[in-house]
Amino acid sequence: MSKPSINVCWLRRDLRLHDHHALDQALQAGLPVLPLFIFDQHILNQLSDKADKRVTFIHQTLSRLNEELCRFNSSICVVHDTPLHTFQQLLEKFEVKEVFANHDYEPYAVTRDQEISGFLSSNHIRFHTFKDQVIFEKSEVMKPDNSPYTVFTPYSRLWKKRYFQIGEQRFLSEEKLSGLLKTEIFPIPPLEAMGFEEATLSISPPQLSEAILINYHQTRNLPSVPGTSQVSTYLRFGLVSVRELVRLAQQHSETWLNELIWREFFMMILYQFPQVVDNSFKPKYDRIPWRNDEEEFDRWCKGETGYPIVDAGMRQLNETGWMHNRVRMIVASFLVKHLLIDWRWGEAYFGEKLLDYELASNNGNWQWAAGGGCDAAPYFRIFNPWTQAKKFDPKEEYVRQWVKEYDDSYIPPMVDHEFARKRALETYKRALSI
Ligand code: FAD
Repeated sequence: MSKPSINVCWLRRDLRLHDHHALDQALQAGLPVLPLFIFDQHILNQLSDKADKRVTFIHQTLSRLNEELCRFNSSICVVHDTPLHTFQQLLEKFEVKEVFANHDYEPYAVTRDQEISGFLSSNHIRFHTFKDQVIFEKSEVMKPDNSPYTVFTPYSRLWKKRYFQIGEQRFLSEEKLSGLLKTEIFPIPPLEAMGFEEATLSISPPQLSEAILINYHQTRNLPSVPGTSQVSTYLRFGLVSVRELVRLAQQHSETWLNELIWREFFMMILYQFPQVVDNSFKPKYDRIPWRNDEEEFDRWCKGETGYPIVDAGMRQLNETGWMHNRVRMIVASFLVKHLLIDWRWGEAYFGEKLLDYELASNNGNWQWAAGGGCDAAPYFRIFNPWTQAKKFDPKEEYVRQWVKEYDDSYIPPMVDHEFARKRALETYKRALSI
């Protein structure tokens, strides 16, 4: 019996059916389209926490997608395997003509896609990839001399100008779903079969109401208030499209638009300067002699530093996999400046815990906090956790929410602020003036 001829739409960090560039293109290519998702063993094997919240989040999302696809007598093929072996297996069952996917810019993803592209082309299968997770990618927003921007403000100015020129974009994949391959429902491998267990998820769905966005510029720094969109995890895994978010931002909030542009700025930086994965953007910041005290790091991770705002943030992260941006800035600054612990340690801990973990944003923001990133704050600006708390959590509502035992006899600060500030200043100054 001859194998059915199909095209494949390989979903990775774009787990939705609407406004989906690759899916839209696949559904116009003529053959029935099989949606595919791979729980990539290369990635899953790196995760030490078997109750990883992200794996559960993806798993639940795929189940929901399958329910939607059921209405079209279709289903998403979900496998737990390596990408190469998955495609080898797929070719046993189907006559695959073309494969469609959206661009993925992280170093591992680029290598993976090169390998798969080579394999497909040796089997005479075309591999098409499209821009989807950003408005502008790679080298689309560059300085007049074609070099990359390393400062946010001029980058964002040109970004907005370009956006105005290209206008709103939208891919109507959701209107073409009858072109999907008709099939029975494929079972999704249970988490246990992949070596994982179900994690408790307590994240809020995105808050994209007009009220939140219009007030964003006033409420975004107050961690006790649901004043930000909380869309980051949904954006990370592509349950929402960045195009719809930018449309909302254009209508309601310039400040919020700038945050979405920061995300693209850091993605551009990672693409143009891949060395930032392991090195400070400004090389001389790698001369800083970090203290790297493991016991102190452990107290920071657990949220037992004696600084209530820092502890509240770390406990929010540990419990929910999300932390308010203002508090991310405070805890990051505390780790690198007050404890003089290498920003890469903090970055890696966030990488383990954050549901919205994004290499580019995490790296860019950690480098920013440590002072050696592009467009970073000058090193001598050191957040005072007490004044930050007073300003942004004046009634201690956030602190009380996450540090249940917080009262007047709360554990004493593990290091005195003034002492730590001076130590950081001297250490940085000495290292940078060599
Ligand atoms: P909103 O304030 O509603 O902003 C909307 C969107 O804009 C966010 O979802 C995000 O996609 C983008 N955005 C907002 N602020 C930033 C920023 N500073 N840098 C880049 N993009 C931004 N964000 C991640 O998505 N993944 C990370 O791994 C990550 N690590 C961080 C580490 C540190 C040390 C710091 C200080 C910030 C980090 N951020 C990261 C940025 C920011 O904290 C989160 O994007 C934000 O808190 C998510 O909440 P929200 O969706 O309510 O954001």
